[in-house]
Amino acid sequence: MTAKSAAAAARATVYGYPRQGQGRELKKAIEGYWKGRVDADALRATATELRRTNWRQLAEAGIHEVPTGDFSYYDHVLDTSVMVGAIPERHRAAVEADALDGYFAMARGTQDAAPLEMTKWFDTNYHYLVPELGPDTAFTADSTQQVAALGQALALGLTARPVLVGPVTYLLLAKPAPGVAADFDPLTLLDRLLPVYAQVLTDLRTAGAEWVQLDEPALVQDRTAAELNTAARAYRDLGGLTDRPKLLVASYFDRLGDALPVLAKAPVEGLALDFTEAAAANLDALAAVGGLPGKRLVAGVVNGRNIWVNDLEKSLATLGTLLGLADRVDVAASCSLLHVPLDATAERDIEPQILRWLAFARQKTTEIVTLAKGLGGGTDTIAAELAANRADLSSRAGSALTHDPAVRARTAAVTATDGRRSQPYPERAAAQRAHLRLPLLPTTTIGSFPQTTELRTARADLRAGRIDSAGYEERIRAEIGEVISFQEKTGLDVLVHGEAERNDMVQYFAEQLTGYLATQHGWVQSYGTRYVRPPILAGDISRPEAMTVRWTTYAQSLTTKPVKGMLTGPVTMLAWSFVRDDQPLADTARQVALALRDEVNDLEAAGTSVIQVDEPALRETLPLRASDHPEYLAWATEAFRLTTAGVRPDTQIHTHMCYAEFGDIVQAIDDLDADVISLEAARSHMQVARELAGHGYPREAGPGVYDIHSPRVPGADEAAALLRRGLEAIPAERLWVNPDCGLKTRAWPETRASLENLVTAARTVRTEL
Ligand code: GLN
Ligand code: ZN
Repeated sequence: MTAKSAAAAARATVYGYPRQGQGRELKKAIEGYWKGRVDADALRATATELRRTNWRQLAEAGIHEVPTGDFSYYDHVLDTSVMVGAIPERHRAAVEADALDGYFAMARGTQDAAPLEMTKWFDTNYHYLVPELGPDTAFTADSTQQVAALGQALALGLTARPVLVGPVTYLLLAKPAPGVAADFDPLTLLDRLLPVYAQVLTDLRTAGAEWVQLDEPALVQDRTAAELNTAARAYRDLGGLTDRPKLLVASYFDRLGDALPVLAKAPVEGLALDFTEAAAANLDALAAVGGLPGKRLVAGVVNGRNIWVNDLEKSLATLGTLLGLADRVDVAASCSLLHVPLDATAERDIEPQILRWLAFARQKTTEIVTLAKGLGGGTDTIAAELAANRADLSSRAGSALTHDPAVRARTAAVTATDGRRSQPYPERAAAQRAHLRLPLLPTTTIGSFPQTTELRTARADLRAGRIDSAGYEERIRAEIGEVISFQEKTGLDVLVHGEAERNDMVQYFAEQLTGYLATQHGWVQSYGTRYVRPPILAGDISRPEAMTVRWTTYAQSLTTKPVKGMLTGPVTMLAWSFVRDDQPLADTARQVALALRDEVNDLEAAGTSVIQVDEPALRETLPLRASDHPEYLAWATEAFRLTTAGVRPDTQIHTHMCYAEFGDIVQAIDDLDADVISLEAARSHMQVARELAGHGYPREAGPGVYDIHSPRVPGADEAAALLRRGLEAIPAERLWVNPDCGLKTRAWPETRASLENLVTAARTVRTEL
């Protein structure tokens, strides 16, 4: 086939679409079902209607091939577990009694059966339910849902392509079931799993699927030769089936690397690759294997996980290069559009000019269609779109929002000294000891106290104009008063103000920093029915005025004990926002760091001697490939130091991280040059304390002794036992006593009891020193 005819065949497609609906109808229906207000038929009807609306939107925008099976009541990895019959023993009866209720039981747990564990989907903020497998797992095929979704789309007269989690990724995402040896490798189950996938493929073929997409994003991570061999075997087997649909193996979030030659050789009909951030590497690797002769290449040139308008000319250039490398080139977003909000035109509070820089799922769909048209028919056919796109890009590049000369001058003037504390850690530690006069094993909390209904009501009242800002501030002060007096009474050593004024640890700061935009309807699924509205880091960042000082100083005025100032760090501010893509992340992080540095310095000037800068996202935004880690960690740790290094030696800088598994970044944690770190550790029985010690971590640390993820109250004996374990790794002079994380999701009764026990435990263990 010539390049020209490959182009003429260019089709537009996507791998998935936001599930919730414009008015978050799905969330309402599911939560209604859980509460018994919506029956199963009504829930199913809502789902059917949402799928229809989504497909219509896609088809009307000009998408040639719509995805099916991407829709989910909770999570598509859980759907895959259902499809292959990997139902944990403890949920089997519930699933057999009622498929829908059993499904939600696996997702959310019941009185007697814990839910599946939830974790992040690669480096996104979407969470999936981790499959639980073991040597006894017997897979069985259940293609009902996939077949039904395909049938619904075909009945609407659409060309549809079922999208499934691929077998290799499914196994690589799984973990050993409870009671199974920790070193059990789920990949060993491949031979048992493949016949089930074969059955599902056959069923889909029978139901009318020409193509089926198998998503293998796990292959963009570093993989051993054995794992790559497993992938090769999987696709040799599936490709060798007779009477099957054509197979499109999709990868996204990064480059395929060594997995590319494996998939290029596999007997499948198409590959889908990410040509956004991974464009250069994937292009080179494709050229190196001599392209994909005889195969369909689906090119993800529109970023599926960020919200900026595409550079159409640049994408067309990439697509043009690809034409010579495959039999047929189609156009897509880099990954499912699940990771972006539905429709930018719903935003009424963003200036029209700026709104044109944004592309949510609907706008991305149009971009994909335009690119497919331009690729097939030549740039003349999309001249108007190209002109409009050029205008939007240049308006963005020339805007005062994206280029603030004062911010630019300040970042350019940053020197290495700015990121260095004036004294090395050991000297600072002595100065802090003298200044703070804390007991051994000092007790503290991570920052937030319970976010009560009253607090949420106060915020709603303020928004609705039922109270004015003075009235609101009064309510927050009252809450701070209670939080302080509780901590004093309980005997904690370093107090916090409780973060009552914060809706969210990122949004609160984003709302006060210049350069950030907020959306009204920009909901993105985080997990299940939980949706978040990430702020948009759109421009140069500056801080018009202090953001937290008045709350912290008010709290400090109520007590003689030190009150910790509480900030969200630069890496986390980036990680939980949509970040501008028109400059390196390192530059953006530096701007945020300088704004936060002013806040840190203002807190110190106002008399705060302990300041905590939270970086829970430091570990989770680690790039997928190890060779990219050093560059990331270099700018990430620099941004933290820039935030914190402007204080006096006797001011104590704390940081906090959660979501365990810190072993591989202990050096980076040390490079933050913080004085104290608190970490999640209660569930892993102080594993992190041993990891820190194993790496010779020289600073103070507070591995959590209270698991805040559950309402369960840890007894004083239990907390004391954890502390003693902590002491085996970290000497008493450097060990802190604190919960795993903030208490905002907890209720007061268990918070009270748990913190009282925590203080008792610290007092007991102190007497043993
Ligand atoms: N200071 C924050 C809190 O206590 C930290 C939250 C987090 O680590 N996710 O809520
Ligand atoms: Zn935390």
